[in-house]
Amino acid sequence: MNLTARQKADLQVMALEGVKNANIALALGLETNDVHAARSRLGCTIEKAADTATEPCGCCGAPAPADEEHLYGLPNGEGTYFCERCKLTVDYVNAFEDENETEDECQEDDDEYKDPEEEDEL
Ligand SMILES: [Zn+2]
Repeated sequence: MNLTARQKADLQVMALEGVKNANIALALGLETNDVHAARSRLGCTIEKAADTATEPCGCCGAPAPADEEHLYGLPNGEGTYFCERCKLTVDYVNAFEDENETEDECQEDDDEYKDPEEEDEL
């Protein structure tokens, strides 16, 4: 079961919010078993989530892990924590800003950001 980047981000945010696996499964359109497996794989099991120090996301207010990886500098010089969802969005935007490397790989994880007009009708 491969989750998209977006599904992973949603799962991680919901895990920190203490959402039950069954409800996460519903929200993501997965089976509860898949959610369970994905949580183990992503290291956000129920025990782990309960132990994680969180800060409200500076963007949407969802719980964000308070660690280096989720800390972002704001234009005004302050730092803020971003939840997985907002981190995903910021990283996505940043990916276009520094195009040092040419990546021709098609990223199928970015379905959510597809331009509606690009919908391919196969
Ligand atoms: Zn957020």
